[in-house]
Amino acid sequence: MISVRLPDAGRRIAITGTVQGVGFRPFVYRLARELGVGGRVRNDATGVVIEAFAAEPTLETFTAELRAHAPGRVRDLAWTAIPPEPAIPFEIEASVSAGAPVLSIPPDLTTCAECLAETRDPSARRYGYAFTNCTRCGPRLTIAQGIPYDRPLTTMASFPMCPDCLREYETPADRRFHAQPIACPVCGPRLNGTIEATARRILDGEIVAIKGLGGFHLACDATSDLAVARLRGRKRRDQKPFAVMVADLDAARAVADLSRADAALLESDERPITLVQRRDGALSEGVSPTTPLVGLILPYTPLHHLLLAAVGRPIVLTSGNLADEPIAKDDDEARRRLAGIADAFLGHDRPIATRCDDSVARVIAGAPVVLRRSRGHVPRPIALRSPVPAVLACGAQLKNTFCLARGDSAYLGPHVGDLDNLAAFEFFREAVERMERLVHVRPEIIAHDLHPDYLSTRYALERPEAIKIAVQHHHAHVASAMAEHGLTGEVLGLAWDGTGLGTDGTAWGGELLLASYCGFRRLGTFRPVALAGGDQAVRQPWRIAIALLDDAFAGDPPASALARLDVAARDVRVVRQMIAADLNAPRAHGVGRLFDGFGALGLGRSLAAYEGQVAAAWNHAADAGERGRYPFTIDEGVVDTRPMVRAAVHDLDAGRGAGIVSARFHGTLIAAGAEMVRAAIAAHGRRPVVLSGGCFANPILAEGLLAELGDVYLQRAVPSGDGGIALGQALVAAAIAEGRS
Ligand code: ZN
Ligand code: ZN
Ligand code: FE
Repeated sequence: MISVRLPDAGRRIAITGTVQGVGFRPFVYRLARELGVGGRVRNDATGVVIEAFAAEPTLETFTAELRAHAPGRVRDLAWTAIPPEPAIPFEIEASVSAGAPVLSIPPDLTTCAECLAETRDPSARRYGYAFTNCTRCGPRLTIAQGIPYDRPLTTMASFPMCPDCLREYETPADRRFHAQPIACPVCGPRLNGTIEATARRILDGEIVAIKGLGGFHLACDATSDLAVARLRGRKRRDQKPFAVMVADLDAARAVADLSRADAALLESDERPITLVQRRDGALSEGVSPTTPLVGLILPYTPLHHLLLAAVGRPIVLTSGNLADEPIAKDDDEARRRLAGIADAFLGHDRPIATRCDDSVARVIAGAPVVLRRSRGHVPRPIALRSPVPAVLACGAQLKNTFCLARGDSAYLGPHVGDLDNLAAFEFFREAVERMERLVHVRPEIIAHDLHPDYLSTRYALERPEAIKIAVQHHHAHVASAMAEHGLTGEVLGLAWDGTGLGTDGTAWGGELLLASYCGFRRLGTFRPVALAGGDQAVRQPWRIAIALLDDAFAGDPPASALARLDVAARDVRVVRQMIAADLNAPRAHGVGRLFDGFGALGLGRSLAAYEGQVAAAWNHAADAGERGRYPFTIDEGVVDTRPMVRAAVHDLDAGRGAGIVSARFHGTLIAAGAEMVRAAIAAHGRRPVVLSGGCFANPILAEGLLAELGDVYLQRAVPSGDGGIALGQALVAAAIAEGRS
């Protein structure tokens, strides 16, 4: 007689985190079968739920194995005892969409080694197949149209599985067991051209628009001056660097000098564009004409791997857009918008649901710093120290991202870019609304910048929700750093950037704040510089140089200094008159503006092709061996930069090169920042020190202040620039709305 023994225990195990679309259920299935555990596993709107039945010690082992080895990123795993059920073979159940929905769709995942090997194996049925994926790799966010993350709610819904794929999908031991985007050459998406023809066109010097995961890229031969110049001309992108895709680490080492940390960052799961030191001669100069850095990226889809193998050399792979518009995502849209740029198109029939640009990162102080957080990161939540009500934070104007937060999770949206054209604004609106659906956050509170003219602010004010909270720009920067590092209470925050509207109506950007989430005191700043012509001065940094000279030499700058600027005497006169009469010459405290002005003076570079170009060049000019610094004073918290300007002019007159002067300039800023912080600690007591604001993407400043102050928090996972500001806005608004500190 066969006796069916009732298992003596049962557990309901609820798991939250990034646990859908990462092969979680198949893992649970195999583990349960291995241990002889009965029951079921399913996705629900909060994550994954398991009901498991076995002897108590077996359940204990099962739970421990889950904790130790489950794929994805488990936020929380909790279990409760439930009554045992008769022995039933473990199975995967269909998803239910009930419960309080919590997003657990993963970011898009880089092609895994097994899938890559299949695309290179002539005997495999996915040989040469550009859409090969499995439970460990492939598209996720960019194809998701809703949650839970299941095939019918992705853009793969229109591709019925062939019998072979269906068998893999249903076979627990298979790597593609319940892989939602599973596809093969028989049933899956198809390219509308061939890799070979595309490679030939690239080698012939043509520009090809290629559909990627989160949008179209423009590709051309990165070793051809002609092809790169043609792309620049057509894209109307004068000097901004292009990203370059290389086949693998060896190919990367052939074109750039990589540290171990650089190599690890290039190969990391997120596959960011990684800024590294370019080697001379290997790539066309035109790729990054005015900087010694180059942004390299390794292939992250099978299409990229196949293309790079066919081309056999590095290719430019830049966003498929005109100037600063959003990346094109649909085939028709790309054909329309990129018609004047691309000679050919390589598209396919798998729609992109969510636009998502490549992320950008670099190594600072030996570890990665995310400069643009997008594909590979979004929508992975940032864990919050304490729960918040549902908030939408609309971000800043430039490098915009937005943030949706609720409970203990904050979701930064994909990189939207500069909100200075209608296309970008429409993308912003579309991305906010899609993300609200995907994370099921219905905001009660809308946070926005203090600046009334930011399009993100205007959008916030048009929202129907009643509670709107304006957050000062640098307060938001500091709060973003606090949130990333889980800091509560008060901190000392150095917030250095180009510009942000202050509470006094002037442009801030050299700030030291004593801040908590709910408020701040401005303890220090830099002596302001006049921006003759307002925003015009940002594109024409010679205007800032004149203002610095005028101020430092009390209206009588030496002719030698003025002569360094390649500007007509008449223009100089007009600008000096504007400053003297305080006519359209707003005062700005931003450290970024000092970089602009000193860069113009020290490099003789009067004009910036794009915002921050001269500032970046001034950063790159610094001589690594030089340790000197210039004098400065701090009076009532305000750093007086006039002694520094006079000393720099003296150095230049004495024939010292830009390398020395730039290094001393950096050293002075580091000393001034450290001095500001030390004075604040003396007056107000020790607090955690955070660095935020776009200036800390500059490794010399960040590493210098780290060395000077020791214990400081640098933003790494969330950009310190305006791309990370929405996170801080969300937390500040939540704290103010709840009357917390
Ligand atoms: Zn794979
Ligand atoms: Zn198939
Ligand atoms: Fe900023």
